[in-house]
Amino acid sequence: MGTALAEHFKGLIKASGPIPVAKYMEECLYHPQHGYYTGKNPLGKSGDFVTAPEVSQMFGEIIGAWFLDLWTKLAQPTQINLVELGPGRGTLLQDFLRISPDSFTQAANIHLVEISKVLRAQQEVALAGRNVTWHQDIDAALTACGKHVTFFIANEFFDALPIQQMVDTSKGWVENCVEYNEQNDNLVFTHSGLPMKETCSLAVEIMQKIAGHLRTNGGAALTIDYGYTGGETGDTLQSIRKHQYNDVLTWPGEADLTAHVDFAALIDAVGRQAAVFGPITQGEFLNKLGLSVRVESLKKCSDSQQIIEIEQAVHRLTDSKQMGDLFKVMAITLPNSLQPCGFENVYR
Ligand code: SAH
Repeated sequence: MGTALAEHFKGLIKASGPIPVAKYMEECLYHPQHGYYTGKNPLGKSGDFVTAPEVSQMFGEIIGAWFLDLWTKLAQPTQINLVELGPGRGTLLQDFLRISPDSFTQAANIHLVEISKVLRAQQEVALAGRNVTWHQDIDAALTACGKHVTFFIANEFFDALPIQQMVDTSKGWVENCVEYNEQNDNLVFTHSGLPMKETCSLAVEIMQKIAGHLRTNGGAALTIDYGYTGGETGDTLQSIRKHQYNDVLTWPGEADLTAHVDFAALIDAVGRQAAVFGPITQGEFLNKLGLSVRVESLKKCSDSQQIIEIEQAVHRLTDSKQMGDLFKVMAITLPNSLQPCGFENVYR
């Protein structure tokens, strides 16, 4: 007994042969009836995974402070776009806007790029009363942004996009595919255990569009995700369901599928269009932005149980064995002279 989507894949593969990993991932995430992001409620304790904004309000607040600093350095434009890609439950923006002055919230046109109807409904609740427009993809959001300065936020967005896997075989590089093994009645990869390269053409395309928009209109983008910067190769595709890792082919449509983000590819995608900062680790970013100061002020108005929770959240967000090192933060700004907080090095 497989999932509804597993049955769909078996039929498809029997009729027309193995399907590329990219197609498998795309259908698992976005299939109109059975896709993971079509009907599931992925986030939180009762869902499948917990993200940084769900760990603590401090995450969204610090990101908010980071953007507010840039807004001030840009002389506080009275019209600005705030675009979030894959906003989940809307928690990050809720925390960001709560600490923002009215002059900023009044200036901000909020654009959310969200594919999931279930999450859109949660975002509507979290951001009720705010000036929010929803978009199906980056193109629609950029059109709506017009010519104003724009701030982009993407937390755990790029890892959710479908990847291509190329395998180094004795016959040269071939695309890894998903095949149906009739004897065992299960899905299997056509190649495993061989050297492999992963690419995410959609991530590159989206980053190119963001950089292009910044080049024309100015602003900044902050990308936070788990990933790598070196020229690593290998299989990073993973499946998470109910906070547990699974075999990637076992729960199609009912588990979250992600892959590590190749930051070097994202930097290449920006090219010479804007200044790139980082990536630095999430732990370094939060500490440099003054996490400890926020912790102390929050503790002053907390009871003993809340103080324990604050300390646990800090550990989760910054410890090198938790999210602190694996998660990376990369910034892009334009004009190039716009120096963001927390980053000393300009990449290019
Ligand atoms: N940023 C949130 C949620 C991360 S989960 C947080 O940190 O809590 C990934 C998010 O990206 C979800 O909101 C998901 O619905 C959205 N998403 C995934 N693929 C997408 C796509 N192709 N287009 C738009 N949104 C997408």
